[in-house]
Amino acid sequence: MDYFPLFLDLQRQPCLIVGGGDVALRKASLLKSAGAAITVVSPELVPQLAQWRDSGELAHRPRTFSRDDVAGMRLVIAATDDEHVNAKVHAECEARNILVNVVDTPAKCRFIVPSIVDRSPLMVAISTGGAAPVLARQLRARIEATLPHGYGVLARLAGALRDRVKARFDDERARRRFWETALEGAAAEKALAGNEAGALAELEARLDSADATSLQRGAVYLVGAGPGNPDLLTFRALRLMQQADVVLYDNLVAPAILELVRRDAERIYVGKKSNNHALPQEEINKLLVKLAQAGKAVLRLKGGDPFIFGRGGEEIEELAANGVDFEVVPGITSASGASCYAGIPLTHRDHAQSVTFVTGHRRGDAIELDWPRLVSPSETVVIYMGVKQAAHICAQLIAHGRAADTPAAIVEKATTTEQRVVTGTLETLPALIEQQGIKPPALIIVGTVVTLHDRLAWQAA
Ligand code: SAH
Repeated sequence: MDYFPLFLDLQRQPCLIVGGGDVALRKASLLKSAGAAITVVSPELVPQLAQWRDSGELAHRPRTFSRDDVAGMRLVIAATDDEHVNAKVHAECEARNILVNVVDTPAKCRFIVPSIVDRSPLMVAISTGGAAPVLARQLRARIEATLPHGYGVLARLAGALRDRVKARFDDERARRRFWETALEGAAAEKALAGNEAGALAELEARLDSADATSLQRGAVYLVGAGPGNPDLLTFRALRLMQQADVVLYDNLVAPAILELVRRDAERIYVGKKSNNHALPQEEINKLLVKLAQAGKAVLRLKGGDPFIFGRGGEEIEELAANGVDFEVVPGITSASGASCYAGIPLTHRDHAQSVTFVTGHRRGDAIELDWPRLVSPSETVVIYMGVKQAAHICAQLIAHGRAADTPAAIVEKATTTEQRVVTGTLETLPALIEQQGIKPPALIIVGTVVTLHDRLAWQAA
């Protein structure tokens, strides 16, 4: 983080602006809306600043800057067109630990002023740390367009009801869940439509009918996080990620995805690379039950889809047996992700009429696969967890009758910016995997559909 984001309460706080031109005016007007006690030091003032001085809305020192002007200030903005004066202001503030901003000079800013979308009390602030102000402005325009003004109303109503909600529910989690549902339903619709009284009535009715016991009940959400690219999450997944009290995840869940989980949620890492679980599956199952019974909203985040080679079934069996509420959210399985992002359709009228997903994971000594079923030329086979056993898998397919020159590909870290695709044949793929140093997570795709990659790959290699 280059800058620490925060919102500052400047009500009646002494703030200094050095300069009296148009830039100073813009800064003064912003500080004024935050209720600051403004002093402007400048030999001259533009008319609007002079008017505020005359109406007593700011104090004016009609002269050039001198060092002691910054004494006692919370925050100082240098907005003159004289570099030397600006540098002097900056140096003086730094020496006294006063927050300082020299307009348009990032190197002389202890704080920067973000682009804002103001739906007070709701406020969105955007910054690129000075790297790309235009980008920040574009983003701001987009948020401005998609964030209805009614959100400000909703935030204000919620603020007004806060104490009553607090009195009604002792439990912090029950309060949060009340708000999570109350702010999404009819009250929000009314507030967004500008019906403030209707929204308030709706929130009050909700509060009267809310049942503390059911709000305190825990549940487990078994959620597919997709193959690694955060854009491929479902809306439902994202929503539940924002509401979780605790999240259990393993190495298949990309850090960029974990970032999207509610900041205050407790994070529990339960797995590590390959089949060597940090926590044995039975322990994970028990932990899920324990956390839910303690009243928590538990997010069990799984790579890809939870019901495809994800042991999701085993985890919820334990929940069902213990009477714990649960929900399962599908995710894009890595075979779909790899197929689309590598430009290898899994079925195609000219190539393959069916596709089979298998696991190359060994149980004991052998890979338990029904080889004769996987050798039809019109079938695509996708092998999960097959990197280590690639040589053995390819040899078995050939031994059971699939042609040695059948096209085959391996897709590493599919859908992410680090995706790599290597293509060859059943005969050549194992050596290519070695040579290129392909590591899990990766998927092997076998079948003539792989030839389409040359024409359909759209993702830069
Ligand atoms: N439930 C997951 C699969 C878990 S098994 C799903 O639906 O995708 C783990 C295997 O999934 C890995 O060994 C690898 O074969 C595959 N996999 C997961 N993410 C992948 C990715 N981004 N790229 C390629 N393969 C991936």
